[in-house]
Amino acid sequence: MVRMDGPDFSKGVAWQRGEYVPIAQASVPLTDWGFLRSDATYDVVTVWDGAFFRLDAHLERFERSCRRFRLDPGKTMAEVTDILAQCVKLAGLRSAYVEMLCTRGQPPWGSRDPRQAVNQFYAFAVPYVWIANEAQRERGLHVIVSDVQRIPAASVDPTAKNYHWNDLTMGLLGALDAGGDTVLLTDAAGNVVEGPGFNVFAVRGGALVTPKEGVLEGVTRRTVLEMAQALGIPVELRALPADELRAADEAFLSTSGGGVLPVTRVDGQPVGNGAPGAVTRRLVETYWAWHRDPRYSRPIDY
Ligand code: PLP
Repeated sequence: MVRMDGPDFSKGVAWQRGEYVPIAQASVPLTDWGFLRSDATYDVVTVWDGAFFRLDAHLERFERSCRRFRLDPGKTMAEVTDILAQCVKLAGLRSAYVEMLCTRGQPPWGSRDPRQAVNQFYAFAVPYVWIANEAQRERGLHVIVSDVQRIPAASVDPTAKNYHWNDLTMGLLGALDAGGDTVLLTDAAGNVVEGPGFNVFAVRGGALVTPKEGVLEGVTRRTVLEMAQALGIPVELRALPADELRAADEAFLSTSGGGVLPVTRVDGQPVGNGAPGAVTRRLVETYWAWHRDPRYSRPIDY
């Protein structure tokens, strides 16, 4: 909605330092360690058809990530919910990508002690973000398995959502240069782990396989596991060697940026028959159907 008498919130809205601003004006101070040291955590929840999807799961993960990195957003989850909803409402969005962040902030000048920093909370809502465009969703993604290794879990805990993305970004650049749509990184043993903004699943003999460890426990991954249970599809949580992904009957990614996204080529070779498979399509359908389920959807009071 464009307001003639006030700020233009039509492209999205951010909450920063106690006020709502148009997304184009959103900023963190240059000296915030969130920027200088990637010292921050965040979470992303989506809004579909005027309702948050699995908001509680995202808030719980955000609180866990904050605790893990010794960050304090200084807000209750009820206050966070109000701010997120207000960002969405001011922007007039019915479907949105909504991010909450906590940065380290800045210790007093001269101090290098992170305990002295005043942590900062930020939030913003923008139109829904798809990791794959419509054509890619239709035909399936071409994924390149990168030789860039994901930062080890012993160095940065991948279960706490973080901005240590240099490995993901360098891998993505390599994959795009090689003609792929996106990238999957591996661990030191050559198992695929995750990519920039998504988890990965292979389908073999009717069962789902997804990495057990060394990944963010995506809320969409969790939704896929719950859908599999509801649909009677067996699941194996274990290491997924890159060669097993290449030899899979079907493959897909899971992400808040589009749900279940078919993968139909890996490193230039077709997965299965090279078209989105039946199990994947069933999960895509169920994923969107669950957005209308009151167990997971929380309507926004516009
Ligand atoms: N893995 C990484 C590294 C991510 O950044 C994300 C989401 O941004 C995911 C997995 C998928 O998580 P979710 O399903 O909660 O969006």
